[in-house]
Amino acid sequence: MTDTVDTVRNPIAAPGPRTADDAVTAEVVARLIGGITAGPEAETTAVRSPLTGEVHAELPCSTPKDVADAFDRARAAQRAWAARPIRAREAVLLRFHDLLFQHRDDLLDLVQAETGKARSHAFEELGAVAVASRHYGRTAGRYLRTRRRNGVFPVLTHVQEIRHPKGVVGQISPWNYPLELSIGDVLPAFVAGNGVVTKPDTQTALTCLRARELLVEAGLPADLWQIVIGEGPVIGPEVVDRGDYVSFTGSTRTGKEVAQRAAGRLVGASLELGGKNAMLVLRDADLDRAAEGAVRACFSSAGQLCISIERLFVAREIADAFLERFTARVRAMKLGNTLAYGADMGSLVSERQLATVVRHVDEAVKNGAVVLAGGKPRPDLGPFFYEPTVLDGVDEQSAVCGEETFGPVVSVYRFDSEDEAVERANATRYGLNSSVWTKDGGRGRAVAARLQTGTVNVNEGYAPAYASAAAPMGGMKESGVGRRHGSEGILKYTEVQTVATQRLVGFGPAFGMTDEQYAKFLGTSLKALKALRLK
Ligand code: NAD
Repeated sequence: MTDTVDTVRNPIAAPGPRTADDAVTAEVVARLIGGITAGPEAETTAVRSPLTGEVHAELPCSTPKDVADAFDRARAAQRAWAARPIRAREAVLLRFHDLLFQHRDDLLDLVQAETGKARSHAFEELGAVAVASRHYGRTAGRYLRTRRRNGVFPVLTHVQEIRHPKGVVGQISPWNYPLELSIGDVLPAFVAGNGVVTKPDTQTALTCLRARELLVEAGLPADLWQIVIGEGPVIGPEVVDRGDYVSFTGSTRTGKEVAQRAAGRLVGASLELGGKNAMLVLRDADLDRAAEGAVRACFSSAGQLCISIERLFVAREIADAFLERFTARVRAMKLGNTLAYGADMGSLVSERQLATVVRHVDEAVKNGAVVLAGGKPRPDLGPFFYEPTVLDGVDEQSAVCGEETFGPVVSVYRFDSEDEAVERANATRYGLNSSVWTKDGGRGRAVAARLQTGTVNVNEGYAPAYASAAAPMGGMKESGVGRRHGSEGILKYTEVQTVATQRLVGFGPAFGMTDEQYAKFLGTSLKALKALRLK
């Protein structure tokens, strides 16, 4: 099937296709690394672009002492920031939104050069950050405003619920969506009055540093967002040990370590972890739309998307007709390695990701699976390219059936009833995202309610739920704890405080009452409140 997968050559740029080297110049690297908190003697680490396999940056590594300094600086800046009116903090997010579009091209170049993904998939990240910055830029004041609550005694007890920032948030983020999962997740932390120390994945640190530059240009005090670089197991724990709250996105394995460490200090943590997401194509689905949607759902960012689909459950009656449409589209997908629109899919990020994909596919085939499309690495395009791959007849013991592949591989399973489809979709330790396809929206929502995942998309793969920043997004089961977006996505970065003011009479016998008379008086008062439906 190799001959059906093409390389897209940049149709726009002249004189030749722009490549990763054009985006990550020595000048850009020299400027961006100024945003890393690291001492002058710092050791450096080499970062390679997945598009070429060549080293494109040498980044200074932060030491544990640098991490401590980063928290001190962010803490000092945080006090003045939290004292600014909420409108002023919101305004920074709204200006940042506009800057994202003014600098769209260089941001997309960086994301592509660091991750190897197709430009349209890089744009998905920018779009998600743009939506979140507008959302919280317009609504933070409403989410965070001090609220009146009913006091125990009407009139006599005045109660307020007040939101305070946590302080300085420690953030650890992965490489797969470096723009969205670094800045997108901490915009609500900033607008709530916090400082942040971020440890991005070293592979994609330049994107995070560029986002920081733009946020500072939008008005964020420079010291408020500190960025530290280094090996996850070395400086990650330092970040967890110093944060007043921890925001972690990454694998379930690391997430459990982070959770235990945060628990030991009794600080809160949100954990956005792995998935093994299912798509259900019901008997009455529009097959062309479902096939088109499945391509988007399975192969965005070459499947290195926590919410992308790796298990495709199709009603037996329509399976052949659906697969004919789906595999034709997959075989026609274009792979590309240049910084331009036009490719349907880019590269995997690293040797490690490629090795997992090869291992999962080869083992499944050895156990009897049939390759309906793809199934091979493409070293002719770049060191880590792999074809978009569809497997049928996967043995349930194969790793690709139960483990997260995090690559461009989807397995097809047939079902005879909706009950069976729901049961099999739920038969995983993960619970991040799922997708249901049917012409009947009500039926789709009824099936959705039975799926144990934090988001369900009806007649799309993942984008509507993720992009709806007013609604929470996150995982059930081992896919995580806590949510991004919506009220959960901002209130988690706050401490809530109740302030109750007692008026006129105190909480104890008054006017010469004995304890017994006071107890009777309280009982009578509560009865009266009940009769008046005030309690
Ligand atoms: P990972 O857990 O290996 O690394 C994530 C981050 O944690 C990196 O910055 C890494 O350096 C750091 N880290 C590693 N060891 C650490 C330690 N002991 N203590 C503290 N930090 C440490 O994950 P990955 O391979 O980079 O990312 C892919 C995984 O992330 C996939 O499982 C994917 O599903 C998941 N993910 C989840 C979401 C979500 O929103 N649920 C989003 C994106 C990715």
